[in-house]
Amino acid sequence: MAPPPSFGANSAAARDIANVLHPYTDLESHQQVGPVVITRGQGVRVWDEAGKEYIESVAGLWCAALGFDNERLVQAAVTQMRKLPFYHGFTAKSHEPMIDLAEMLIARAPVPMSKVFFANSGSEANDSAIKMVWYMNNALGRPLKKKIIGRVKGYHGITIGSASLTGLAANHRSFDVPLPGFLHANTPHHYHGARPGESEDDYATRCARELEDLILEEGPETVAAMWAEPVMGAGGVILPPRGYFPKIQAVLKKYDILMVADEVICGFWRTGTYWGSQSFDIQPDILVCAKALSSSFLPISAVMVNEPVFQAIAKESHTIGTFGHGFTYSGHPVPAAVAIETLKIYDDLDIGSHVAVTGPHMQAELQRRFAGHPLVGEVRGIGLIGAIELVADKAAHANFPPAAKVGPRLSRLCEENGVIGRTLANDVLAFSPPLIMTKDEIDEMLTRVGKALDELTVQLR
Ligand code: PLP
Repeated sequence: MAPPPSFGANSAAARDIANVLHPYTDLESHQQVGPVVITRGQGVRVWDEAGKEYIESVAGLWCAALGFDNERLVQAAVTQMRKLPFYHGFTAKSHEPMIDLAEMLIARAPVPMSKVFFANSGSEANDSAIKMVWYMNNALGRPLKKKIIGRVKGYHGITIGSASLTGLAANHRSFDVPLPGFLHANTPHHYHGARPGESEDDYATRCARELEDLILEEGPETVAAMWAEPVMGAGGVILPPRGYFPKIQAVLKKYDILMVADEVICGFWRTGTYWGSQSFDIQPDILVCAKALSSSFLPISAVMVNEPVFQAIAKESHTIGTFGHGFTYSGHPVPAAVAIETLKIYDDLDIGSHVAVTGPHMQAELQRRFAGHPLVGEVRGIGLIGAIELVADKAAHANFPPAAKVGPRLSRLCEENGVIGRTLANDVLAFSPPLIMTKDEIDEMLTRVGKALDELTVQLR
């Protein structure tokens, strides 16, 4: 490896290169390229150490729903730290922030839910839910009913169980996952997956039939649960075809297979309804959420389970003597207090009504500005989540070869133009801005992205 470039000897960049092992980064290239060091944030914007301002088009990692400053959240954390900086929920200990937050989530659930388990990240919450499903089926005397279905391009995290559930090559390659017993159904993306002339409805019917074929091939008595994001996020902002989830769930019900909604991105108004499940007619048995739960000011995630799931788990824990699962920081009072305040802020701001205006505006502007662009194959989205997918051949819906690195080049150009953007596999530029973003800020963000896209077009000529 060549020596690192000449960042200032004691600069943050040089110290980063010397000391930090970055998530989701080409670690060898990083030694040459170095980091973008973000030093502060306000509203929908962040600034780097050179004072350059960026609009955050994905709210960090689809998560900073209230943007990058909020005094009420700061005060909630400080007040809780002063009162009770730590306590836990092991062996029946409890505290008010955990109780209050659980109560608030149950009251807001899209379907009747019974209990809430807390963790610190989306991955941990999904791993916890996987273990609950296994535990439940042991309790029910169904030791073979353990296989879990994810979907190709689904993203559920990176711990061993959640990475197994994830359907993305970058999360599997060289990590020795997925574990046995994790299956991946097809990606329900009409733009790429439908046959010529196949309607969304017919395509959804075929997806459900293919799911049923998979279940029958494996043996329904061996399949425990299916996981799905209402809108696939990290896999490419992929919306299900019309009617997909009711059709899928009819199959799951037939074979007594649980439906788990991974609402880590979609929860808390992202899709225009409180839960993504409500936008797509999903009736989950288990619901996982994180990210916007605390507007990501502090880490916290939650697993909601319905009464039948809870009853089975409770029975097994009684037989064994304990539910032998929990994190030191499950329901930590400080992030729980911040999450409580976050949910109150969503209510106080009536953020749902705000997204009811800004979401359709963002979707319309994405269409108006980019649908006809020579590089753009599909513009898609719902609420305040959206994407433009770049293609080499619009008629054939054919992507550029990954080696052309078109997506990363667009990300870089976006940054030069003052937008931190996130490009995903297949050169998809994702949008998931803070929910507080105004119509004017949406326009400003898209104008900057448009400039980046035009510069990319010139580069690719
Ligand atoms: N599930 C979904 C749908 C996600 O988008 C993510 C992260 O982006 C996760 C799970 C994993 O969450 P975390 O990164 O907090 O572990």
